[in-house]
Amino acid sequence: MNIVDYLRISLIDRCNFRCQYCMPEGTEIDYILKQNLLTNNELLTLLKEVFIPVGFIRFRLTGGEPLLRPGLVDLVGAIASFPETKDLSMTTNGFLLADMAKDLYQAGLSRINISLDSLDSDTFNLIIGNRGRSRWQLVWNGIQAAYEVGFDPLKLNVVVIPGVNDDEVLDLAALTIDRNWHIRFIEFMPIGNDKLFDDRGWISSEELRQRIGKKWGLTESFVRGNGPADVFQIPGALGTLGFISQMSECFCDRCNRMRLSADGWLRPCLLNEMGQIDLKNALRNGVSVEELRQQVEYLLGIKPEINFKQRESGTTGIYSRTMSQIGG
Ligand code: SAM
Ligand code: SF4
Repeated sequence: MNIVDYLRISLIDRCNFRCQYCMPEGTEIDYILKQNLLTNNELLTLLKEVFIPVGFIRFRLTGGEPLLRPGLVDLVGAIASFPETKDLSMTTNGFLLADMAKDLYQAGLSRINISLDSLDSDTFNLIIGNRGRSRWQLVWNGIQAAYEVGFDPLKLNVVVIPGVNDDEVLDLAALTIDRNWHIRFIEFMPIGNDKLFDDRGWISSEELRQRIGKKWGLTESFVRGNGPADVFQIPGALGTLGFISQMSECFCDRCNRMRLSADGWLRPCLLNEMGQIDLKNALRNGVSVEELRQQVEYLLGIKPEINFKQRESGTTGIYSRTMSQIGG
């Protein structure tokens, strides 16, 4: 059986972007009230007393936009200082990163993934729902800053939307030729914006690989990550190309993660809402950490049955929370 030792922690459900595929302008979202967010102390208690003792050793901070979380650098420092922490990473939209990259790196963040769906400023603004001054350059500055302070590997996430940014797949892939960057193409999922999904559809990783392979050739990389990405390389390139194919493939059998939402719900599967545990309220109601450990251990035991293998039974309209709420 797969070892589940990786926890994705959503630090906040709010965001300074309104990406079309995630939380488009006009979507009504029931934001978590401040008093319902796990506090830093509660989160650290859960990690130290519950998650680490049952075997979690790798943590990713996400959101919403994690850089908006107050006290982030101290929180990173505290998680990195647990002797058991083997890996501490973050997924961010990069908008506030230029000023924070160095502090985060020095606090012990080891890896970072930055979302960058387009190299074209107008397309980028369209995707992130920004009508003001272009934000592309600030995100690009954040990416450069992260690279310069030493985040290695540096990963860029791209959600490919047909007719919006799929014409840039080759340009984005080309970034890996002379940089040791990892570009990861993520299949668009009907979670967050069903209408866009129904209107535009999605493009499979296989099709993207064919397009890229036709231009440069593509070899399967011997470097396999810990996650769901299938890793390839343009021959001779310094970086790699990852393909995350949650729509066209089922990688439930190699799933190694659980997710903790910003309001303390532990969720065993991104695409299946069964089995969740409300750890925040349990903690606030005085349930002991020993009892919580038992509950998490039980959930680990039944996790293989809580999956999304039944893809063919339909994908749209079944999720009650968006990626920004779950912690994508
Ligand atoms: N705000 C940060 C960011 O954008 O990187 C972290 C949170 S975001 C929810 C995490 C990841 O989920 C991003 O890489 C984003 O592209 C991805 N994502 C959000 N909605 C998605 C969707 N409908 N289909 C595929 N990926 C999605
Ligand atoms: Fe915000 Fe990330 Fe969702 Fe975009 S994908 S709206 S940056 S949480």
